[in-house]
Amino acid sequence: MALLEIAHMGRMTAGPTSGTTKDIQAMLREIAAEVAYTHREIGKDALDARVMAAMAKVPRERFIPEPYRYRAFANGPVPIGHGQTISQPFMVALMTDLLNPRPDSTILEVGSGSGYQAAVLAEIVGHVYSIEIVGALAEAARERLQRLGYDNVTTRHGDGYHGWAEHAPFDGIVVTAAAPYIPPPLVAQLKPGARLVIPVGEPGGVQVLTLVEKAADGAVSSRNLLMVAFVPLTRTPA
Ligand code: SAH
Repeated sequence: MALLEIAHMGRMTAGPTSGTTKDIQAMLREIAAEVAYTHREIGKDALDARVMAAMAKVPRERFIPEPYRYRAFANGPVPIGHGQTISQPFMVALMTDLLNPRPDSTILEVGSGSGYQAAVLAEIVGHVYSIEIVGALAEAARERLQRLGYDNVTTRHGDGYHGWAEHAPFDGIVVTAAAPYIPPPLVAQLKPGARLVIPVGEPGGVQVLTLVEKAADGAVSSRNLLMVAFVPLTRTPA
């Protein structure tokens, strides 16, 4: 499918937003260009068409604070308050793609932030559970997702290091903040055959986007994909 068609499809179904077809088309092109640029590291030349269609459909500007909306479709991170950022479109698209999302998947996200990544996932999968450690962001994301009609997303305020045991195991888990090591509770909450996508590394230092896979027999392996820069995974003191 041509990028223009995907973008158009998005415009027809997403309702009125300030993102024009041209803005979205440009964003999709930048994602595709960065995929091409990093194809050796990420191990693919293109992202799944369903992921690109979801990127075209979710009204990204609605997840971005007013003063920064002019940057909604640029391929960079944008501040969302509380020292946090909404990741650049390429990173959101890549992490979504790496989860191999299917219509019947149940996905856990750690780090709801604005709720944007959760919305992109919700366009593709059956249900998204998303945890956010900053109370004000958790509340804002919950309201925003509800307002936009994402009723297949359930949010919670808390420390996502522990996952969400009541709804585990998951078909995929995405962590959108950098952890110093892979949290064992998250690996434990993967179904056989499921994947965990997580930036691993020290805050402010070099981090590596890591793809963890639990095989059908339960064996866990991991692959380092790409150098990245994420805000740190913080912890609630026990
Ligand atoms: N996925 C977000 C981007 C989030 S930035 C979006 O699409 O907008 C990373 C988020 O992770 C921040 O909001 C930060 O507060 C949150 N976070 C950091 N540590 C966390 C933890 N232990 N549990 C849950 N959320 C955490």
